[in-house]
Amino acid sequence: MKRKKIKGFKCPCCQIHRHETEMKDAIGILEKIEKKNHPRIKNLNIIGFFKDAQFEWACDECLSLKKAMTANPSAQIYSWHPHISYFDEKKNCQFCKKDFYFSKNEKRFWYEQLKFQLDATPANCPTCRKEKRNKKQIHDNLSEYLKNGKENLDYATLENIIQIYRIWDKEDKVKYYQSLLKNKNPKKK
Ligand SMILES: [Zn+2]
Ligand SMILES: [Zn+2]
Repeated sequence: MKRKKIKGFKCPCCQIHRHETEMKDAIGILEKIEKKNHPRIKNLNIIGFFKDAQFEWACDECLSLKKAMTANPSAQIYSWHPHISYFDEKKNCQFCKKDFYFSKNEKRFWYEQLKFQLDATPANCPTCRKEKRNKKQIHDNLSEYLKNGKENLDYATLENIIQIYRIWDKEDKVKYYQSLLKNKNPKKK
């Protein structure tokens, strides 16, 4: 039985099947890393690592066209293989169901600055992520206001709480805190 020799792979960026001579950049980088990490292993089958690769890479053409950018593996936390290149990737937001791009710059920031795990990807679009962050911030503010009980709230804090419940359309809460506000300031009608 003759084993078919692996000669190339589909570029995850352009989706075109590339011969190993068209992925020299990615192979070269991975080879350097593997030789450094496993100095005693001879005849490393570098091209074999690209089979079902869990890491990101791109073909030479995508890199030269700037559709992809070379990553910095030494800045990443990885256990098996690091990302070799980054490219813009279309994703679908799990919340609003709209398409968005997980951009190559964003990827670099996630994996090399924030040191996120290499399989971590955003589930939501930037707008929904921002909204979630804001919501969380409001929740945090509210629990901060209420941490010492309802009795000791000052006038400004009560006003802030009322604002929050107005945003959330909680009329009963708005009325309740308005009544507390009145007690704080009996002269005000
Ligand atoms: Zn490509
Ligand atoms: Zn969204």
